[in-house]
Amino acid sequence: QAKSSGGGVVTGYHPRMREGLVERLELENDLRGALDRGELRLHYQPTIDLATSQVVGFEALVRWPHPTRGMINPLDFIPIAEVTGQIVPLGHWVLQEACRQAVEWSAAAGGRPLKMAVNVSVRQLDRADFAESVARVLAETGMAAGLLCLEMTESVLMTDTEANLEQLVRLKALGLTLAIDDFGTGYSSLAYLRRFPVDTLKIDRSFVERLGVIADDTALTDTIVRLGKSLGMSTVAEGIEEFGQLAALREMGCGFAQGYYFSRPIPAAEAGRLFLEGATV
Ligand code: C2E
Ligand code: MG
Ligand code: MG
Ligand code: MG
Repeated sequence: QAKSSGGGVVTGYHPRMREGLVERLELENDLRGALDRGELRLHYQPTIDLATSQVVGFEALVRWPHPTRGMINPLDFIPIAEVTGQIVPLGHWVLQEACRQAVEWSAAAGGRPLKMAVNVSVRQLDRADFAESVARVLAETGMAAGLLCLEMTESVLMTDTEANLEQLVRLKALGLTLAIDDFGTGYSSLAYLRRFPVDTLKIDRSFVERLGVIADDTALTDTIVRLGKSLGMSTVAEGIEEFGQLAALREMGCGFAQGYYFSRPIPAAEAGRLFLEGATV
């Protein structure tokens, strides 16, 4: 069993740890290549308006089809990209591609508005020029700012609070909307939530998962929906897999939903068709 002593000296043989490091370095190196060669892809998961059952937009989710390892899950490479700083060019590409695609699909559907949500890492927010780069993407792609939603986790409210607040205010000035992703899993304070220019709460899947099964979880989800309402924010439930969950969320007055019940994240061609058909899921 490997153990780090107080002086930071690591003793004992621990091949698994070494393997982990080598694998990390390999992934890091491969990711650089994948970015340069344009090998990353986006999948899109529909967002459904619970009042009309219409697909009103999509969330862009990055995919990495690795030449030898197969499809790599974003949870296995986004954290690495965050440490190395690769998340900055990666995130920029995701934003650009998602906006380009949204404009194309909307045009193909006779100008029917399409909302596009893009996940943004706190590391991207750290960059002084982030809002500027978003403005550039909007201008270059012709994406209407009001149809773009940037999703970030609660950590933006909890760390570097003042600096992040300033960045979010700049982003809001562009006319886009901001969502807190996986809401309810962090420890953000309600006071911060009120101070930040947030438009949308995305209720974490862990709450939706046990809806209707465990009474307390129903109460928690209901509380988040009410919290959103009382703060003038819209609510999106993530991870709906069963009709019962959908029914419960509708009852609570949750505005929007995503989840396998409606659709998994799907490749661009499929998502484009879904939107064009004006799908009611
Ligand atoms: P997220 O933003 O919370 O995205 C939702 C995740 O839940 C997606 O996983 C999606 O496939 C999955 N999901 C959706 N509906 C259901 C459901 O009904 N049941 C279950 N079990 N899962 C569902 P995915 O695509 O693997 O992405 C994981 C996370 O990686 C995302 O969580 C997001 O935090 C991050 N991520 C993905 N793309 C990007 C990106 O372009 N930039 C950044 N910074 N992060 C990204
Ligand atoms: Mg998200
Ligand atoms: Mg989420
Ligand atoms: Mg989540």
